[in-house]
Amino acid sequence: MPPKRKSSRPPAPSEAEIDRDADTLDHLAADPTLISGVYNYCDRWCERCALTARCLSFRMDRATARHRGAEGKEGGAGVQSFWDDIARSFALAQRLVEREARKQGIDLDSAGALIAAEREERERRLLAARQGSALHHAATAYWKSARTLLEHLRPELSDTAAALQTQAQLGAGHPAEVAADLGDGLDVVQWYLFFIDAKLQRAVASRVEIVRDGGDGFPSDADGSAKIALVAIDRSIGAWARLRAHLPGHADAILDLLVRLERLRRAVEREFPAARAFRRPGFD
Ligand code: SF4
Repeated sequence: MPPKRKSSRPPAPSEAEIDRDADTLDHLAADPTLISGVYNYCDRWCERCALTARCLSFRMDRATARHRGAEGKEGGAGVQSFWDDIARSFALAQRLVEREARKQGIDLDSAGALIAAEREERERRLLAARQGSALHHAATAYWKSARTLLEHLRPELSDTAAALQTQAQLGAGHPAEVAADLGDGLDVVQWYLFFIDAKLQRAVASRVEIVRDGGDGFPSDADGSAKIALVAIDRSIGAWARLRAHLPGHADAILDLLVRLERLRRAVEREFPAARAFRRPGFD
């Protein structure tokens, strides 16, 4: 029999670690300078965010990274780390629910079977709404085309970088500004590549919930999610337009992306007419 391969997965968080995370969250959440819910409708680009000091999500991430000795390490362990974080967040959310239920005297076991069945039915409903949405299809078509173009651009960008370096050595033109503009444009379009689709799916799913269950009196999560998707579309349009000016050889392909994004923007505004007016905590 072949020897069993060792799993590269780190061990699941222990009960003590989950308790420690829950304590940390309780402690951090008591800070009155935090902006409630600021992380709900942001673009998750913490590196460029002016509100890190007032964001519970950012501070919790930093605290858990410190606990794991990972602070300062670039990018973590990629996809695996992402799923580990999801699993950890889920365990933490469960622990918080258990604590709150204990405080309120709620018996979670008696309601468990019903909740599980309802959750499955709800997840099926939301998945169908997300997958059937025209916005999701348009956003997916955009990111696929954009990703293909970005892959094609890679060799040309290396040539451009070399040319800019030569210009800098010769003291000709404004190579530093061009390089910064190119770099920033690429950062922006790459950051929002999948984000737009993810937020539009959330907007569509939230709208299904609102239609089914009625509003809860709070500003609509559907509109908030559509708003941040619109912000990401606007910024992507601006960034592609700047990239187009620097990459004349790809002007037509970039124009195609701009047209896709502009159509998507209009479609989102039609489907979520109140989204632009939605006020995101801390940002608008
Ligand atoms: S609000 Fe700012 S700091 Fe907090 S998660 Fe969003 S981008 Fe990051």
